[in-house]
Parts: sequence; structure tokens; C-alpha cells
Amino acid sequence: MLDIISTYSPETIALLRTLREHLLLELSKSHDSKKILSFLSKCCVISIQEEEKTVRIGAPNEFIVQQLKKFFHTDLQRAVQDVHASGYKVAYSTIPELSENHPLHVDIKRLLHIEEKPKTVLEASVKDELSEYFGILFEKKYQFDNFVVGSNNQLAHAAALAVSDDPGNVYNPLFIYGDVGLGKTHLMQAIGNHIILHHPEKTVFYLPTSKFIDKVIFAIRHGHLNRFMEQLEQIDVLMLDDIQFLAGKDKTQEIFHNIFNEFYAKNKQIVITSDQAPKALTLLEARLQSRFTLGLIVDIALPDLETRKAILEMKLKQKGQSLSDEIINFLAEHITSNVRELEGAINILITNQQLLWQTLTLEHARGALQTIGITLQKPAAPQATHAGNNPTSLGSSMRNSQQEDIDTLLEQIVRHFGIEVTALRGQGRTKEISQARQLAMYLIKTKYARSLQRIGDYFWGRNHASVIYAIQMCEKELQENPQLKKMVMELG
Ligand code: ADP
Ligand code: MG
Repeated sequence: MLDIISTYSPETIALLRTLREHLLLELSKSHDSKKILSFLSKCCVISIQEEEKTVRIGAPNEFIVQQLKKFFHTDLQRAVQDVHASGYKVAYSTIPELSENHPLHVDIKRLLHIEEKPKTVLEASVKDELSEYFGILFEKKYQFDNFVVGSNNQLAHAAALAVSDDPGNVYNPLFIYGDVGLGKTHLMQAIGNHIILHHPEKTVFYLPTSKFIDKVIFAIRHGHLNRFMEQLEQIDVLMLDDIQFLAGKDKTQEIFHNIFNEFYAKNKQIVITSDQAPKALTLLEARLQSRFTLGLIVDIALPDLETRKAILEMKLKQKGQSLSDEIINFLAEHITSNVRELEGAINILITNQQLLWQTLTLEHARGALQTIGITLQKPAAPQATHAGNNPTSLGSSMRNSQQEDIDTLLEQIVRHFGIEVTALRGQGRTKEISQARQLAMYLIKTKYARSLQRIGDYFWGRNHASVIYAIQMCEKELQENPQLKKMVMELG
């Protein structure tokens, strides 16, 4: 195809350019000119095939071809019939050379009278100042090429790629939701890393929502809100991670709503993650919830067995390590709800391997699961066998009434620490209360496999992160404090 183009006479080129101009003018009657600019600026009419009655349009890559088909095909088809000849069809080809300057290109901005604002490429020093101001940047380790795609995250991955290729123009905002540890932050940061590499003129910011809230509150308290908003104006792509933390923060929600509208109106990309879908975020203002639906909402679900294995293999490859297929299968079968736990198990096993200098067995893998708090499930086995196999379980006679067991457990804990149950579930932070609460969360997780969400809800609506933190603190304490360990053994 390209060979043919290079042999075109000046007359043919002029003819194709003129047809292209007419088509663009026709499209501009029903499409936003900025949208035309972002998708069609490198697309050309590359041939008029009389015999097939086809006008062929070339685009620089497959992604643009897909977008043309999605957004413009019907109108392009109509325009070809109107401005060229009836009975003609549109067809598309990918011509990579069109991404460079090419004689078939025309100046769309001039043609459609699009006023160009001077492109403000931020000086490196200004970017540094911004980074310092907002305090957070990307982690290089989160990339697209080390993100395993499975049926659970396929759509989220495709949308993230599309947004990285053309920030602000395809799906705005992009809203990604899913349970903890399923790759939301990874995907979001991969978008950031990709944009930084391929669109160096863009200023991209990633902020955990908790950090965003701190910034807003600090700015309000010190009368710097204007400065805060000015700094945000310099940003082209804003990513807020874990937006559920805005729940109940009315003032910050209002400010975020304004920021959102600004970004949206200027076609600046917004990417948001959350642990729930927008409509489930009931503590967010309705108008904010409805803003999120303006773009694309995608979820990440639990990975299936094959995807879990592929993730384990990817993580091992990245670390330059290997484990036997038997162990990989075992881990993938038993760790089902959280990719972070898959990584945790690998880390423990690799450390074992390095310290023990011996081949790892399934026993080591079982031990790793226990360390990260996963109780082995044997679905086919009767309950009593399960309980008998598991040294930390409460025993078969009590398994039918787990809630009663949990209540008894909590009573024992509060008695041991000399505190009230209300204190245990409340917000107090004295040493005894904190330690008792951490222990309670740890035991409920490890013995009863309750979800982090449910544990958090029970303990004064704490979030996942603080439950994970509490459990980790308890594990650390158990290693260092023999008395606590003894008490846990007694409880068990
Ligand atoms: P979330 O933000 O949803 O809680 P993260 O993005 O922090 O989860 O993911 C937890 C860990 O799991 C990270 O180390 C991440 O790299 C890894 N992870 C999750 N999903 C995938 C995946 N599909 N491919 C590779 N790694 C993944
Ligand atoms: Mg996250």
C-alpha cells in the first residue's frame, strides 16, 4: 500500500487531500472538533478504488482504526456518499508511516479553525516542585507488561491501555473498582508510567485519596486552598486511588467535585479506583456518584485458577526465582481472594529456600499459608476431619455456631486484657486496647476466615488497610512476645 502511495502523482495527492478535507468538514457538523483532531489528525484518504466502489482511509495504528470504527464509522460512511459519490463504502487500513509527517496530511486545526492554546510544557523544575507539593509519584515496578491479563481484569486492562494511549479523549473518567489486593493500584500506576513515557509533555499525578484529603484539609486550615487549586491546574492527568475514603468527608467531596468538573470540561484525564462501584458508595454525594458514570466504569474480579498461576509465575520470573509446579499449583489453589497474598506466600517460600538450602515441599507451602493467615479449606472433607486436621481450629463441636465462638473468643480476650467489649470495638488507643483489638482481628481472620471488610465493619467501620495493619502488628508481636503467644495457644 505504501509503495503505491509513494508513486502517486501530485494530482492524485491533491485529489485525495481535497476529499479528506471535505469529509472532515462534513464530520465537523456532528462531532466535536477536538475529538476529530485527536483521532483523525494522522488519518488520510489513501485511495479511491473505483472498481470496489471504496474510499480507503489510512490510520497510523490499529487502536486508531478501532476508534474510527467506534466513533465515526456511520457518519464517515454517510459523508463519503454525500461528498464523493453515492454507492461508495468506507474501508480502513493501518499505515504506520502516517504517524510521521506525510504529504497526504492536511492541517486540521486550520481547516476546522481550532484555536490552539500555547502548549505549556512544564519545566522539569516546575514538575519537581509539583511532585514535592503533592508528595507522591509513581512506582516504576507497576507496568503493563508485568500485569497478567485474565478474564477477571480483561476489560479494565483494555480500558487502561486505551486511556494511556490517548489520555482525556477516550474514557473520562475511567473508574476501576474491585476488592482489595486485586491489582487496582497496579493498573492505575501502569497508566501513569505509560503516559509519562509516551506523552512526556503531560503532567501526571497519582494520589492516594487519603493523601488528597490531608492536602485539602491542610490547605483549608492554612488558607492555601487557592494555591492548592492552582497547583492542580498544572496537572493534565489526575489519578485518585481508593476514592471510597472520601465517604462522609463533605467539604473535601465538594472541592473534589469542583476539581472534577474543571478536569472534565478541559478534557483532562481522570482515573479513579474504589473498592466498590459508584452506586454502592452511598456516603458520597449523589452528584459526585453521577459524575463518575460519565466515563467508563470497569471492575476487576477475583482471578481464576489459571490467572493465579500465571501471576505466580510472573512474580517469580521478576524475582529471578523458581518454585516447583506442585507448589505453584498448591498456592494457586488455596489462595483465591487476594493477589497480594499470593505474593506474600512466594516471598516467605523464597526466604525459606534461601535460609534452609533445601528443596521445598508442600509442608513448607502449608506453613507459608498459615503464616499469611489462610486456613486450609478441604471442601470435600467432612467438618470434623477438617477441624481435626487443623491445629488452630476450635474443634468440631463448636463449628456449627461460629458466631457464638467468636463472641466467646472476644469475651476471653477482653477478660484477659481487663477491658470492655465496647472499648475493644471502639476507637480508644491505649496500649491494652490496641493490643487486644489487634489480637481479636488476627484471630477472627486466621480462625474464622472472615473477610477484612467484615472485620473492619465490626470494629467501628475500620477500613481494609487498618485491619491488615492490625493483623500484621499482631503477627509481629506474637513473634516477639512469648506471653502473648502462650495466651493464643491457650485460647486455641
Ligand atoms: P489493589 O490496589 O486492588 O488493592 P494492588 O494493585 O496493590 O491491589 O495489587 C496487589 C499486588 O498484587 C501488587 O503487588 C500487584 O502487583 C499484584 N497484582 C495484582 N493483580 C495483578 C496482575 N493481574 N498481574 C500481576 N500482578 C498483580
Ligand atoms: Mg490499591
